[in-house]
Amino acid sequence: MLQGSSTIQFKIVLLGESAVGKSSLVWRFCQDQFSETIESTVGATFIHRVMDLGEYSIKLQIWDTAGQERYHSLTPMYYRGAKGVIITYDVTNNDSYEKAKDWVNEIRTQGTPNAKIVLVANKIDLEDHQVDQMEAMKYAESNDLLFFECSAKTGEGVKDVFFGLSKALPVKW
Ligand code: GDP
Repeated sequence: MLQGSSTIQFKIVLLGESAVGKSSLVWRFCQDQFSETIESTVGATFIHRVMDLGEYSIKLQIWDTAGQERYHSLTPMYYRGAKGVIITYDVTNNDSYEKAKDWVNEIRTQGTPNAKIVLVANKIDLEDHQVDQMEAMKYAESNDLLFFECSAKTGEGVKDVFFGLSKALPVKW
């Protein structure tokens, strides 16, 4: 068990090109399972979720971009202090995969040192995949990223994204 009574909180941010399904992922994960609080701030929103990991619990503060990436107005302020970063692409859109790799580089150079990064291949329910699964897996492995495939539409794989990241976050005992 964690010592002390307070649950450790981690800031988690979602990144990725517009329309890859970031908000859909958050909503798929957060609906129906736990209570949630949504708070609006200037230009971005976050939701708190407590993650029960068996031996211990952590609290995620999950930030969604509120669409700022559409206007190229997403500043480093958004991901400042984030210990976990979920970078999503749409498997039917190769440009979104290239953009995801740009985000990985940006987080590595300007984000929180040692932030855990999850690369998420979303929309696997669709046909006509443009992004090669093996290529993405190899890229993730060689860049020390967690990698998950999912569909926010069907729900397949979505929990794995958030639980996989949560388990990878460093917890002080
Ligand atoms: P965001 O701009 O990255 O937050 O993307 P949204 O969550 O707004 O989703 C963009 C569009 O993609 C919407 O029309 C969603 O319904 C759709 N979408 C999101 N996730 C999926 C998915 O897993 N499968 C399919 N088929 N559509 C999805």
